[in-house]
Amino acid sequence: MSINFNQAKSAIATEIMERLHLLAQHTEQDGMMTRTYLTPAHRGAAGQIAAWMRDAGMSVRRDAVGNVIGRYEGTNEKAPVLMTGSHFDTVRNGGIYDGLLGILLPISCIASWHQAGKRFPFPIEVVAFSEEEGVRFKAPMLGSRAIAGTFEQRVLKHTDDQGLTMLDAMKAADLDPSQIPAAAAARGSIAAFVEIHIEQGPVLLNEELPLGVVTAIAGATRYMLEFKGVAGHAGTVPMTMRHDAAMAAAEFALYVEQRCSRIPNLVGTIGQWNVPNGATNVIPGHVVLSLDVRAGDDAERLAATTDITAELERICVQRDVRSTMKKTYETSSAVCADWLQQGWHAALERIGCEVRSLPSGAGHDAMAIAAIAPIAMLFVRCGNGGISHNPLETMEMQDAALAADVFMDFVEHFDALSTSSKTE
Ligand SMILES: [Zn+2]
Repeated sequence: MSINFNQAKSAIATEIMERLHLLAQHTEQDGMMTRTYLTPAHRGAAGQIAAWMRDAGMSVRRDAVGNVIGRYEGTNEKAPVLMTGSHFDTVRNGGIYDGLLGILLPISCIASWHQAGKRFPFPIEVVAFSEEEGVRFKAPMLGSRAIAGTFEQRVLKHTDDQGLTMLDAMKAADLDPSQIPAAAAARGSIAAFVEIHIEQGPVLLNEELPLGVVTAIAGATRYMLEFKGVAGHAGTVPMTMRHDAAMAAAEFALYVEQRCSRIPNLVGTIGQWNVPNGATNVIPGHVVLSLDVRAGDDAERLAATTDITAELERICVQRDVRSTMKKTYETSSAVCADWLQQGWHAALERIGCEVRSLPSGAGHDAMAIAAIAPIAMLFVRCGNGGISHNPLETMEMQDAALAADVFMDFVEHFDALSTSSKTE
C-alpha cells in the first residue's frame, strides 16, 4: 500500500518535471525561454495547459485577458472556491520553472484526485495567468489584475516594440477587451488564493531547506533620478572646484546601500546608471539613475525612502549639484493571511518538513489577488545559487515532489466555509 502511495507521488513529480520541459518548447526564440503575452508561443502554451487541465478532470474557460482557468468541481456548489495558479508568460531568455511550477503542480495533483474519484466540499480553480512579467507591453500582472478587478484600461494603449497596441494584439488573439471587467471575480467568491512558486533567491538553498512559507510580498518604490553638475575639463579643473554629477551620484548610491543594509529584508538597488555624453576626459555634468527600494514591511520602506530623499538633498547642497527624484512606481506590500500560513505550517509538519518562513522580495500574481481574497504562497528551493529570470534557473524533482505532497495535504485539510471568520 505504501509502495503504491509513494509510486503515485513520484509519478506526480515526474509528470510535473516532464511538462515543465514540454511547455518550454513554446518559445519565441530558439534555444531560449521567451514567451511574452499573446505571441504564437504564448497561445500555444495556453492551448497545451488547457488540454492538461481537461485531462485532469477540470472544465476549462478562457477569460478576456487570456487567463486559462481550470475548475475542479466540489460537492458543495455554494462553497467559495479555493484558487491557485501562477503565470505562464516569461521574461526574455528566462527560466522554465518561474510561474509554470505553480500551474503544472496543482494540475497534476488534481489529476491524481480525479483518478481516485476524490472531490472536496469546495471547488478548486487553477488559474494560468496570461501575463505577469510585463515584458511585451511594459505593464505587469495583467492576468491577476483582471481577476482582481484592478485592470487599468489605460494600459490597453501601450504598444510593443513593433508599435502594436495591446488592444489590437488582444483582438488579433480573439480576445474581447470590452469584456475585461467581466473577468473580475465576485467579492466573496474566492475563499483563498494560494500560489506555489520557485523562491527565485538563495535563502532556502543556503539553509538546505526544500520549502518555505511566504509571510508577505514586498512592496516597492521606484524612482528615476537626475544629477546635474558642471561638465568640465578632466585635466584643468582642480578637485576642490568640481561639481561632478557622477561623484554626487556615487555618494548617494553608497548611502542607499548602507541605509538598506541596516534592516533585514529591506533592499535598495540602483540598476541603471548613465552618464549621457560622458567621455574619459570630461568631468561628468549629468547623471541619470534608477532606484528600486523594497521591503515586506511598508513602514520600513517608507522610512528608508524618506531618509534617502533627505540624504540626496544633503549631498547635493554640499557638492553644489542639482538633482531631481521622480517616483515612477509604488506598490504596497501584500501580507499573507495568518490562517493560510498556519495551514502551510501544519501541512509541512505532517509531511515532515521543517517550517521556514520568509518574505518574498519579488512581486507575484498573489499580490494582485490580495485585493479581493486572502492569499498565501509556498516557495520551492531553486538550485544554482538561487538564480532566476535566467536560463540557469533550476529546481530539483525531489523538491517538486515534496511541494506536491504539501499542497495535497494543505488542500485535504482546507476548510473553505470557515474562512470568513478566520480572516477577521
Ligand atoms: Zn514568476
